[in-house]
Amino acid sequence: MKTNFNLSKWVRTNVLNLKAYSSARDEFSDPRAEMTFLDANENPFDNGINRYPDPQQKVLKAALASLKGVDPQQILLGNGSDEVLDLIFRVFCEPNQDEVITLPPTYGMYSVLANTNAVANIEVPLTENFQPNVSAILKKVTPKTKALFLCSPNNPSGNSFDADVLQALISQFPGIVVVDEAYIDFSSQQSLLTNLNDFPNLIVTQTFSKAYGMAGIRLGACYASIDIIALLNRIKPPYNINVLTQQRALEGLANQRHIQAQVETLLQERNRIQKALESVSIVEKIFPSDANFILAKVDDAALRYQQLIEKEIVTRNRSNQLLCNQCLRFTVGTPEENDHLIEALNILSC
Ligand SMILES: *Cc1c(COP(=O)(O)O)cnc(C)c1O
Repeated sequence: MKTNFNLSKWVRTNVLNLKAYSSARDEFSDPRAEMTFLDANENPFDNGINRYPDPQQKVLKAALASLKGVDPQQILLGNGSDEVLDLIFRVFCEPNQDEVITLPPTYGMYSVLANTNAVANIEVPLTENFQPNVSAILKKVTPKTKALFLCSPNNPSGNSFDADVLQALISQFPGIVVVDEAYIDFSSQQSLLTNLNDFPNLIVTQTFSKAYGMAGIRLGACYASIDIIALLNRIKPPYNINVLTQQRALEGLANQRHIQAQVETLLQERNRIQKALESVSIVEKIFPSDANFILAKVDDAALRYQQLIEKEIVTRNRSNQLLCNQCLRFTVGTPEENDHLIEALNILSC
């Protein structure tokens, strides 16, 4: 639980004061088919996509709200979580003045977005076993610190942060805490969505790009208090989720069993790759994964990366990331793709 959180204190003054753009579909959105819509300068001839999309994505949010057990007004959708994360920076962080805290090694977009928004990125490294260092993080808080970005399960290490560490940070960090749950569907840990109403400073982000198998439609979501979502809505581009994306996402959500079956296959495959890596001599250390990828330390990451490319397998060399010296990151593929990877690693080890 967190009490005494005064949201407006954390918001940029221009965002508190601005009036959101009101689009044609915001002003009149009665979906009755018999209405004659002459308000948005669209081409009137129906081809399925001649009309602007619903700016509030009501049908899609209703489906997501019932699936996730939240109020539709606690959801904001973006063009990928990358847009959602950008909107969070822009609501809370004053350029050339404010700071955020991130915990390397982690998802590269947090520092990219800090840079593009002219916000200082204060880095507090994860511990050796890739957990947040709570006291070191809290020591870095200054009056300029607006937000803390946590990624759990973390990319590129693959582990989840301990539940009590997450709870401690959300309750003790004074500002906004963003928990990026891009990989939560692969995790043995519970989503923080169940705690959303206990923490008025919590924003949970998720994505359709990983477990849901829809990276191509660019759809990300964040969940937070109704007040935080209302602020994000003020600055989001009016028609940021296109008609085709909304349709495909709804179809995907209607097919939960299919997604669950794929997740189960990927988890079995993750275990299979893990076991295979254990018996490969070029692999020196395998980090436990709660996601759909495995980080492993090899004898020579640059060499092994190139050799795998020659075998037509593309992995990610994470060697230049903090605590990831000589590490490659392997995404879990289809069973056939994983056979290919395991075979290639065995050949390289001979
Ligand atoms: C892949 C990934 C995302 C997804 O970003 P989208 O813009 O939704 O595709 C978000 N966060 C992390 C940590 C990721 O690894």
